[in-house]
Amino acid sequence: MIIGIPRETRAGETRVAATPETIKKLAASGKHALVVEAGAGLASSIPDAEFQGAGARIASADEAFTADIVLKVRGPTAEELPRLKRGAMLVGLLNPFDAAAVQACAGAGVSGFALEWLPRITRAQSMDVLSSQANIAGYKAVIIAANTYGRFMPMLMTAAGTVKAARVLILGVGVAGLQAIATAKRLGAVIEASDVRPSVKDQVESLGAKWVDVPYANDEERKIAEGVGGYARPMPPEWMARQAQVIHERCKSVDILITTALIPGRPAPKLIKAETVAAMKPGAVIVDLAVEQGGNVEGSELDKIVSRNGVKIVGFANLPAQVAADASALYARNVLNFLALSLNPKTGEFAVPKDDEIIKATLVCENGSVVPRS
Ligand code: NAD
Repeated sequence: MIIGIPRETRAGETRVAATPETIKKLAASGKHALVVEAGAGLASSIPDAEFQGAGARIASADEAFTADIVLKVRGPTAEELPRLKRGAMLVGLLNPFDAAAVQACAGAGVSGFALEWLPRITRAQSMDVLSSQANIAGYKAVIIAANTYGRFMPMLMTAAGTVKAARVLILGVGVAGLQAIATAKRLGAVIEASDVRPSVKDQVESLGAKWVDVPYANDEERKIAEGVGGYARPMPPEWMARQAQVIHERCKSVDILITTALIPGRPAPKLIKAETVAAMKPGAVIVDLAVEQGGNVEGSELDKIVSRNGVKIVGFANLPAQVAADASALYARNVLNFLALSLNPKTGEFAVPKDDEIIKATLVCENGSVVPRS
């Protein structure tokens, strides 16, 4: 098999779907030719020579795109799609919630595997790109917040007097939120956090943060809040109103607010209204990690820092791309682990196990058609 790794071309995308480490492992069987587009790793600090040293051939974009298996970070653009070979296997973040994007991949005649739909089962953890990248986003959100905030994060006792620790509130405590707590803690902040899912409370407290409770009015609300498959579900408006009230009060005293709340396949829930932003302290910083899905914060704008009454709202997209080398390293390992499902470790032969739960969940198109979601 020829495995191709093109350079990512979407604006701001610095990651690459393979690294010298994963190329070396894929090349080890001697059964596969690895073709990396010239310059594919440069934005992740990987020179072509390192790919070459690991066993890849450096080639043109056309050669990388016409491989039997194409490894991507982001789904192909309209310009990239026609370059793919019909019948090829395409692996990446194919944006499966966007029906038009999936239809376009189907039209290109590829077997498309959307890594966003990896099931959250133990066996798939080593392939879980959403987790590996959300972890980075949570870290970077705190670093950006600290950099944008005009004061210290830790409490300091100096000869010139005492500096108070920053108060940080994290809303949405999945993978990104947990890493945001851990990172803010290392910087010495005082942290509170909240989520719709009640199971998160213990995790928040074990990281040394205070849980902000939004009570459930009845069993039905509690049941919805438990979510499904590790993911949240939309909460009833009554709970959302109660949450808005609790969070409004907390926001009056916080210095940094990081929001990460997401519901798969839906617009991000709006957790912070304009009046809550208006009630925050001047100099406070908000980082809205959900900005690409419409944002958790009223007034956040994609790839901008906007100021509202002295409060800065950061709406940068794709934070993992700002930690490109590590984001690529983890993403590439996830992809390698996904490919391992189809590679016989003894012979190096490649055969996609169609009945595998992970393959079934991620295959979005095949033989020119969209695969219906069961
Ligand atoms: P996500 O990115 O889909 O959402 C982020 C967080 O937003 C979630 O914790 C969600 O509950 C929260 N949220 C949604 N609506 C909210 C609202 N209105 N108010 C407050 N919070 C809201 O989630 P994620 O980071 O991908 O992970 C979710 C869970 O799945 C985590 O608990 C994680 O540990 C678990 N997980 C399990 C596995 C596995 O078992 N293989 C792998 C990865 C993640």
